[in-house]
Order: sequence, then structure tokens, then C-alpha cells
Amino acid sequence: MFQKHLQEPQHLRKLQALCRRTPETHPSYERIHADLKAAAAGYAGERLLTYPLERFSNQLHIFQGLRLPVAAHHYVQIDLLLISEQGMAIGEVKHWRGDIQLNDWYGPLYRTYFDKTELLPNPLLQVEEQREGLLDYFNRHSLLLPEIETFVIFTHREAQLRLPPTTNLPKIFLKERLPQMIRHHFTSSETQPLLHPHHYTNQILTDHKPLQIDVLQKYQVKCEDLLPGVQCASCCNLSMSRTQGVWRCLHCHTSQADAHVTALRDYQLLLGSHITNKDARHFLQVPSRHACRRILLHTATHVQTPSKRPYYRLFS
Ligand SMILES: [Zn+2]
Repeated sequence: MFQKHLQEPQHLRKLQALCRRTPETHPSYERIHADLKAAAAGYAGERLLTYPLERFSNQLHIFQGLRLPVAAHHYVQIDLLLISEQGMAIGEVKHWRGDIQLNDWYGPLYRTYFDKTELLPNPLLQVEEQREGLLDYFNRHSLLLPEIETFVIFTHREAQLRLPPTTNLPKIFLKERLPQMIRHHFTSSETQPLLHPHHYTNQILTDHKPLQIDVLQKYQVKCEDLLPGVQCASCCNLSMSRTQGVWRCLHCHTSQADAHVTALRDYQLLLGSHITNKDARHFLQVPSRHACRRILLHTATHVQTPSKRPYYRLFS
């Protein structure tokens, strides 16, 4: 069964919001854009595995996108963890396109795409580190230390692998071979269970901690640097203007009733769940206090306390 389904990571949604709201002239703009591209590719690759994994959901305990504490402020991040009575496997997912070449299984990895070759960290070493981290984690919880198989799965349809010869099944493969690898590693002639999956699954589900990042701090973007406005779904400009209860794009003239929802989600991801009428007027670029109140009452909960200025609590 799927013990943990893949979900769109919050840090990816934060990066998307930050990319929409950071001016191109900001010193961190290029880095934010590059990190967003990498995070979106990682998530796209992991999503591509969900469907082939479904056919094994009766035989395996499947976790996608795990992050477990291994020491103070240290976590092990695992793209895919598979557990059965016969053993465990962890998979590192790479959504890289191009010609991927390894001359030595644990040597440097070369990626060539459009005549450009770059040297990248060997993902086999990365997944071996994850295995060590996971064993540490099990040890800390006094769980039996199982054999853990490691895989690297390339998911992009434009990836070509050139790997050293081996007489064993390779640990690095394209996603189409995943079912074959699962069958190979989880089909055992052993009739006695080698481990009890529920000892591990309950602990893992209790301890999983999604990555939380303050992206404004990480990329040194100040609140006042953020671009206000409501984005047009057609032309992507922050150029929607509210008239007579409808948003109209001043750039391409598209109309939309609820364009403010995405803007308020951006606010929540970047600045928090509480917003005042004044802050919303600036962020949505709606000059009227009353129009802004109507928008907020429609999409948020009005909170009045004796000690604080009234505010609105955004989507919970
Ligand atoms: Zn537009």
C-alpha cells in the first residue's frame, strides 16, 4: 500500500510564488529561477513513478518523498522507500535529460546535452549516504537493521544512460525497468519473513517532517521587494484590475472572477496566513477598503480580538 503518497512539496510552491513576485533586477532572481527549475524537475520525475508503483501497492509498503530526522537539525531525504517482509530498497530519482555517462560505477558522472558536457555528483554515492542515514535512524529507534538495496532511477524520456559493463542487474536504470527491478529484489524463495514492515512503517509515518524553508530569508528578498498585484492566468503579468466585482487584465483584457485567490495564496506562502485589510489593499492593488473587505470575506476568515487589530486568516 501507499503509506505516503507524493504531494507537491511546499518549498516548490513557495519558490513558484517567489519567482512570480521577485523583480528580474533582484540579485537573487537568477538563483531563485534556477532552484525553482530544479525543484520542479525533481517533483515531475517523482510523479512519473507513482503510476508504475501502483501495481505493487498490494505487495509493498510504498513511501514517496520522505524526510526523516537522523540527528539534531539533520535529516535524510529519500525520494522512494519500499518495504516488504523480504527487505527494503531506497531509490533516488533523477529527472535529467541528455546523455548520462559513467565510466566507473562510483566515479564522476558526465551529462551531455546540446553539445554541453557537465560534471555532476554521482547519484549512487548520494543514495548510499541516504542508506547510511536511514540505518542510523533505525538504530536510534532500536529497530533491527535490515539489508537495504539502493537504486538510482532516471525518469526523463530524453535521458540515455551509458554505464560500465556489469554481470549483475545495474543499480542505475531508466524508469521503464523499475517493475523488473522490484520483482527481482522483492521476490524471494524465503518463506519466513525477514522483517516486520509495521515496526518500521509506523515509526516512519510518525517522524516524517516536510521541508520548511523561509524562502525570503534564504534568498535575501525583503517584503518590500515583492511585486504586488494580481496575476493574469493568460499572459502571466501582474496586471489584473478589479472593476464591478470582476478582474480584468490591463495587458491582454482577459476577465476572471477569482484571480485574487492565487495572489492571496502567494501572500500566505511568502508572508504568512494572517493579513490585514491594509496589507491586502497593497498586495492586491485594490485601493478601496470596502472592495478589499468583500474579497477577503469571500476567501478568508475575519478574526477580531480585543488586543489586536482585526485581521483575516487565509486558507487553512
Ligand atoms: Zn493578461
